[in-house]
Amino acid sequence: MKTLVLGGGVVGVTTAYVLARAGHEVTLVEEKDALGLEATGGNAGIIAPGHSFAWASPRAPQMLWQSLRGAETAIRLRLSADPELYAWGLRFLRECTTGRARRNTLVKLRLCQYSQRVMQDIVRTEGIDYHEVSRGALYLHRDGRELEAGIRKMALLAEHGQQQEILAAGLARLDPVFEPVRHKLAGAIRDLGDSSGDSRVFSEALMRIARDKHGAAVRLGTRVTALRADGDRIDGVVTSDGVLTADTYVLALGVGSARVARTAGVRLPIYPAKGYSSTFPLRPGGLAPTVPGVDERWLVGWSRLGDRLRLTSTAEFTGYDWGWTPRDFNNIRTLARDLFPEAADYERGEYRACLRPMTPAGPPILGLGRHRNLFLNCGHGHMGWTMACGTARIVADLMTGRMPDLDLAGLTLRR
Ligand SMILES: Cc1cc2nc3c(=O)[nH]c(=O)nc-3n(C[C@H](O)[C@H](O)[C@H](O)COP(=O)(O)OP(=O)(O)OC[C@H]3O[C@@H](n4cnc5c(N)ncnc54)[C@H](O)[C@@H]3O)c2cc1C
Repeated sequence: MKTLVLGGGVVGVTTAYVLARAGHEVTLVEEKDALGLEATGGNAGIIAPGHSFAWASPRAPQMLWQSLRGAETAIRLRLSADPELYAWGLRFLRECTTGRARRNTLVKLRLCQYSQRVMQDIVRTEGIDYHEVSRGALYLHRDGRELEAGIRKMALLAEHGQQQEILAAGLARLDPVFEPVRHKLAGAIRDLGDSSGDSRVFSEALMRIARDKHGAAVRLGTRVTALRADGDRIDGVVTSDGVLTADTYVLALGVGSARVARTAGVRLPIYPAKGYSSTFPLRPGGLAPTVPGVDERWLVGWSRLGDRLRLTSTAEFTGYDWGWTPRDFNNIRTLARDLFPEAADYERGEYRACLRPMTPAGPPILGLGRHRNLFLNCGHGHMGWTMACGTARIVADLMTGRMPDLDLAGLTLRR
């Protein structure tokens, strides 16, 4: 079976690998000159079932409203003339009830837990080094009331299989980076099942294996501009290198998915949520974090990727806009100075913005749309590194006629 996988982020690469291993003749198509340069190359690196909460929650509408008035809320809205934003936004608001937030969170959690198992299997089989740190992840709180609220919120995930511990004095014993700043923190909830690693390094290594062991091919520098439909089938992909054809196609273009799908009449509710990402070289001998985490006050996530420290923050609905100014990194700089002043050389940072491919409910869109040979694997939002291996396995199962291990309720185009 000849298969074109469109998109060279972690979702496209994991899908290409699983399909090539299952015997498909796979070619992966990517517009950049290397793999994993978009969201995959800028994320916080946390493999985090413990962070599965749906963004569409009863608190979200107020946060968005406050953000329009200038508040630094967890999710932010910038007014724009883009009608897509408002159509997507209305669907998002419909998901903001208590019942739907809970259901969407549990759909995401189940997928994240499944994905971790698939990932462990792949890593064991292939022996991939991706700067893995398996010491859980920390959700830090600055005051006692916030910590109590965090514990109550995290209980939902604990009831559904996540092992957690509450750390106050024990925080600095687990990670000495917190010893000098103990007085600034009320404590942390540690999700023991979380971990971290570099999704770009992982993607490059996995694609090398798919190519060398399983015969997959990669076409870099090739932009997909349209899908060519003939009735209920796709019969080609129009690219900057001409028309490419195959028996089956996988759409895994991250935030590019909705625009390309529309050329074949498929409407995907995926909209970008912009985040800011910075990476710094660790200082030799400097006290640096050894456990990944999120500061719930400043909404900054961090992880150690080999000899570098990655710090990310912010979720802004502002369209297909990759621009940034130094001011956008204020939260990150404040947190770095406040908690990890000695950790890295902050004068030598790499800065960028990247876009999360968000669905209104949160879970990604998997499987068939309206064409019999076009499989969707997109809309992974803020959790794509965590979910990629699991969604690759599910989509490959659907393509090879195997029953996926996971119930697909809440994970298909029709929800
Ligand atoms: C700031 C930030 C922090 C995050 N932190 C985490 C985290 O800690 N843990 C976690 O699990 N997830 C995290 N995420 C989310 C995660 O990074 C994404 O969900 C994931 O990378 C999505 O993978 P993808 O392959 O679908 O998309 P991408 O990585 O964006 O890949 C899509 C690829 O398709 C290519 N492409 C797009 N359009 C075209 C076209 N027309 N033709 C050819 N190629 C095209 C792009 O160049 C790109 O390489 C974070 C995201 C951000 C932005």
